[in-house]
Amino acid sequence: MSTVLERFLRYVQIDTQSDPSSSSFPSTAKQLKLSSLLVEELKAIGLGDACLDENGYVYATIPATSSKPNVPVLCFCSHVDTSPDVSGKDVKPLVHRQWDGSDIVLPDDGSQVLRKSELHDLDKQIGNDIVTASGTTLLGADNKAGVAEIMTAAAFLVAHPEIPHGTVKILFTPDEEVGRGTEKVDLERLGAQFAYTVDGEAVGTMEDETFSADGAQIIIHGVSTHPGYAFRKLENALKIAGDILAALPKAELSPETTQEREGFIHPVSFSGIQEKATIDFILRDFTTDGLLHKQQVLRGIMESVMAQYPGSSAELLVQEQYRNMKEVLDRYPQVVENALEAMKRAGLDPIRRSIRGGTDGSRLSFMGLPCANIFAGEHAFHSKLEWVSVQDMEMAVKVIVNLCEIWENKA
Ligand SMILES: [Zn+2]
Repeated sequence: MSTVLERFLRYVQIDTQSDPSSSSFPSTAKQLKLSSLLVEELKAIGLGDACLDENGYVYATIPATSSKPNVPVLCFCSHVDTSPDVSGKDVKPLVHRQWDGSDIVLPDDGSQVLRKSELHDLDKQIGNDIVTASGTTLLGADNKAGVAEIMTAAAFLVAHPEIPHGTVKILFTPDEEVGRGTEKVDLERLGAQFAYTVDGEAVGTMEDETFSADGAQIIIHGVSTHPGYAFRKLENALKIAGDILAALPKAELSPETTQEREGFIHPVSFSGIQEKATIDFILRDFTTDGLLHKQQVLRGIMESVMAQYPGSSAELLVQEQYRNMKEVLDRYPQVVENALEAMKRAGLDPIRRSIRGGTDGSRLSFMGLPCANIFAGEHAFHSKLEWVSVQDMEMAVKVIVNLCEIWENKA
């Protein structure tokens, strides 16, 4: 049976980078290469129903070993794609055995150095086996660490039928990194009641909160004239937009000046001509009320700037993007409680965190599958310094197995 490390090394060498500019689904066909391999491996483990659907999702079932009729059906989920930000082609994973804490210089680009003084959590890994890429690519621990952990836990459960658990579903999705990981998931086919994405950072962490998110757009209609004859007539939409951008709060309500549970208003793109200009924003907060407040601040700025341009007009359009999964998870506290319990049984001191972003878990939660996120051990995501330790991956495997058992015990 493959170890979690052997699986991980196998999966990261397959390029599965997703592409935000693609309109096909999945966004890149190369993701299917890993997904097909996973189906083969799941079948080899003994999960005969494993399959890859027409949209690139992998589904499989670990049959129940418990005779209790009411054990909830759990799902463990990870994504196969890697970030479009850094190349994932020809990844050469390196295992730094029993790391002694010294700088890890990546051989294919000496300027890429992992230093424990600079990288979050790395100082806690002395003596462990660290896996990195070689300097020119990302590693892909986000989220192939999660994939390898779920696969290893599945193989373990099948090999140990004496461990009581209910039906466990496995789901591997494409295109999470381009925000489309749940777009074509078939929850009816999946048939799970509760789920965990295995896509978190440090060992022992569990995330049950994400941002709530809206997109906002300000469209400015200026007064356009021939610039040679514009005296006291022209109201240039580009300059109006510039005034709005300049009036945005800087010392607060900005990504660069907020952290932890603070939200923000963030302009992400701008386009226009003198007649018409458009600014796109993202609004973020942990509560829906907080989001509404951001929207009001933005509207106030827009209105005060527009008051100086009587011939022009502007409109603010707001579109819901996603909501904090805590709104759903608060109704099913056992999802979080059991995850914390599973970590304690593995000897960990669990840490609850909130994510300053969105996840597939928040989308799944609102689609009707309450879902928290547990650690996979991946660190320095979307960079050439990405790393994961073998010991953390092994711990994640234990936590997955414990979770299956705990849900059975409590049923
Ligand atoms: Zn991820």
